[in-house]
Amino acid sequence: MTDSARPIYLDYQATTPCDPSVVDAMRPYFVEDFGNPASRTHPYGWRAREAVEDARRQVAGLIGARAREIVFTSGATESNNLAILGAARARSRPGAHVVTCRTEHRAVLDPVGRLEREGFRVTRLGVRPDGRLDLERLRDALLPETVLISLMHANNEIGVVQDLASVGALARERGIWLHSDAAQSAGRIETRVDELQVDLLSLSGHKLYGPKGVGALYVRRGRRLEPLIYGGGHEAGLRSGTLPVPLCVGLGAACALSGERMDADARGQAELRDHLWRRLSGEIDGVWLNGASKPRLPGNLNLGIEGVASQELLAAVPELALSSGSACTSAVPEPSHVLGALGLSPERALECLRISLGRGTRPADVDRAADLLAERVGKLRGRRR
Ligand SMILES: *Cc1c(COP(=O)(O)O)cnc(C)c1O
Repeated sequence: MTDSARPIYLDYQATTPCDPSVVDAMRPYFVEDFGNPASRTHPYGWRAREAVEDARRQVAGLIGARAREIVFTSGATESNNLAILGAARARSRPGAHVVTCRTEHRAVLDPVGRLEREGFRVTRLGVRPDGRLDLERLRDALLPETVLISLMHANNEIGVVQDLASVGALARERGIWLHSDAAQSAGRIETRVDELQVDLLSLSGHKLYGPKGVGALYVRRGRRLEPLIYGGGHEAGLRSGTLPVPLCVGLGAACALSGERMDADARGQAELRDHLWRRLSGEIDGVWLNGASKPRLPGNLNLGIEGVASQELLAAVPELALSSGSACTSAVPEPSHVLGALGLSPERALECLRISLGRGTRPADVDRAADLLAERVGKLRGRRR
């Protein structure tokens, strides 16, 4: 990319670059140590297996799990599908009921929709205007037949963090399994399976400075799932297929690094984010913040600017790489379902931007972003008058 094709990256919730140390850790497993971890009869296989098991321990370490409770997948989308379809089908009985929330990622909402077509009863809970789930509403929604709750830890659009520990306590009391999509929280904020009292938890390599195409599902000991993929019986029969050793190694290295850097990264990003918010809200009229300011992912801002369509604004600031609403739907200018769940009208939702900071964000980037946004909003508004 030329410099003009390299805008300032402020879209770390869509994906993150692979950390160079992660790439270094992966490299030997492509050419020299290329063995199949399922080969038990020679050192090529033994070495690959050792690397995968080390990586499994690193993933487990980040979330306070045991290595045996980690299943490697192709990413958080697959982890969510395996958790939701696998748990519901394993616990299927007449009237079985599944609860989720309207602000979930499509990778949760769609498998839940699939369960509904299979005959499961489904409740999709709304949220408060600040994006947080009301625990009383959840309690009221639970039935004797409820088998699974799926509630994300931190939201990919608005960064709002749910009170999972309380949901976990409630679920456990009723014998309901709790799954959480932690693709955005793992590596960014404290995400420990015992504190959160989750039974199943999804994470993704490319959201925590690891490679794309790999993720993990935490499955609490004793929880049996129905697999989605059948074959050689890899991953304790839960996910057949030869493991992508370099990707597993990369995910492990990325988890270890995120664990070491989490506090410093979070502090730095929250400071820059707060500075950016003070500047934007001070220098642009009619700016509002979507979602609770706390608890919230340290690098996330989701804001609206009255009277300025986000698609137009993004086209007017090619120097910045950020997202309007949710990355997954931003190819089509459709109002985000998450912002809709907060109670925003479709018009207001189309005036929103997601800015997400990460490890590469420098103070100068944030100031440049504030300068550019303030200037271009002024231009767009001036043109209209
Ligand atoms: C990115 C993301 C996913 C999808 O993860 P992949 O690894 O890309 O499949 C799922 N849920 C959330 C909350 C995400 O942010």
